[in-house]
Amino acid sequence: MPRTTSVSGIEVSVDHWVGGERLASDATFPDISPLDQQVLANVARGGPREVSAAVDAASAAFPQWAATPRTERAALLHAVAEGIEKRVDDLALVETLDNGGLLRSHRRSVIPRAAYNFHFFADFLLQLGHEDFETRGHRNHISWQPAGVTAVITPWNAPLMLATWRVAPALAAGNTVVLKPPEWAPLTASLLADITAEAGLPPGVFNVVQGIGEEAGAALVRDPRVRRIAFTGSVATARAIGHAAAENVIPVSFELGGKNPFIVFPDADLDLAVRHAVDQYDNAGQVCLAGTRLYVADAVYDEFLERFLQAAAAWRVGDPRSEDVDMGPQIHPDHLARIDGYVRRAKAAGATVLLGGGPHPELGGLYYQPTLLTNVADDSEINREEVFGPVIVLHRFTDEDEVIRRANDNIYGLAAMVFTGDRSRAERVADRLVAGTVWVNCFYVRDLRAPFGGARLSGIGREGGTWSFDFYAEVKNTVTAP
Ligand code: NAD
Repeated sequence: MPRTTSVSGIEVSVDHWVGGERLASDATFPDISPLDQQVLANVARGGPREVSAAVDAASAAFPQWAATPRTERAALLHAVAEGIEKRVDDLALVETLDNGGLLRSHRRSVIPRAAYNFHFFADFLLQLGHEDFETRGHRNHISWQPAGVTAVITPWNAPLMLATWRVAPALAAGNTVVLKPPEWAPLTASLLADITAEAGLPPGVFNVVQGIGEEAGAALVRDPRVRRIAFTGSVATARAIGHAAAENVIPVSFELGGKNPFIVFPDADLDLAVRHAVDQYDNAGQVCLAGTRLYVADAVYDEFLERFLQAAAAWRVGDPRSEDVDMGPQIHPDHLARIDGYVRRAKAAGATVLLGGGPHPELGGLYYQPTLLTNVADDSEINREEVFGPVIVLHRFTDEDEVIRRANDNIYGLAAMVFTGDRSRAERVADRLVAGTVWVNCFYVRDLRAPFGGARLSGIGREGGTWSFDFYAEVKNTVTAP
């Protein structure tokens, strides 16, 4: 008997999606809404049995999907994108109730981006050529071949968008997929399964196993039939997955955390820099790309700080369904406690609180205040580790070499933001920063043709455009004699 739950009137299956059918588990886990901490759904808790069934289904579907002409695969992926577009409002609301992100952002940008992930990789597939060149009269023919069953494991901060960013290119490349969504926000993945079925994706091409990371996720990455592992999440989990991948000698694509520098030079457009700096509190700070180490040049420090505090004071915290709100709750009580632990330890170590510094005094629940700390040592915990909450540390700096050295002095290397009016300085600094992406006088401008990923502990590999196909496909060279 298929089980569904009604989320604000929207029916969502709480079961797995395997081989084109719903599959239940004896055990369930509670999915709690960050808005009121009430149980939204009791979701099927998968383990080795369900994972094995999903990999069976994905393996069985692979030969036919891999042999499906590109034009047909692309048409089906466009149909999935259109299915997401038709259900933007439902998906946005379910996502907000599940992870606490802003409803208006979900409606206007995050869920449309999930649809675009499918449109983009469908189109890219059709223009993905092959390379040919000659060696002493021999022809080298380089092509992208489907690789097999792909495991996709994703976090809760943008569940549908991050899942589709991996699922779409994997399917485009001709692979079949088993997705393990985050246990703190599992519901939009279930709606995606419905959408793929309505779009006509053949059974077994896309599968979802719900469950806890250490159970369902761990079983999935250990399965020797899995040929690719795409993981977005924390470094600790990446280490565990990396061990499993090494055992089976499977390529991984890891998109992990960040503690990204945001640098404001004295010649920067301060209005622009302040606006983007305050935007780093977006999604309640639960963003891997957030610039949470803010370095401001001595010459403009006082003015910048004054304007930053003014802008941040106008930042409204509250119910993420409200149009007037800029920041909702944190995802989970454990996550709030983790953030607050970082801030408490920083204060005990001598940090000065310029803004916020604790749970929201009026709203209670899982609401945290946008927080700005200073007098923080470069080698302190709060300056080195990813908090993944609305906590920014502020530093002053004097010269270019100094700020580059301090910005690069971190275990991560995901992104960096540079604000300056001097183009040659921008180029010089961007060139020397250790980061997968550097944004100059802007933030979060993303073109899916561009490589995305992180240096150091921020990940392994790059995705986007050809880079995605390089990972999901087997790249083959056929050499033919004259
Ligand atoms: P997490 O590592 O705890 O969980 C991510 C996923 O891994 C979940 O689905 C979880 O169930 C699963 N998992 C946990 N243990 C597992 C195991 N042993 N084997 C297999 N799967 C397992 O991360 P999180 O707390 O959900 O997400 C936050 C992290 O994700 C932050 O570090 C953030 O920076 C990072 N992130 C990175 C990007 C990026 O693009 N680089 C984007 C978003 C989030």
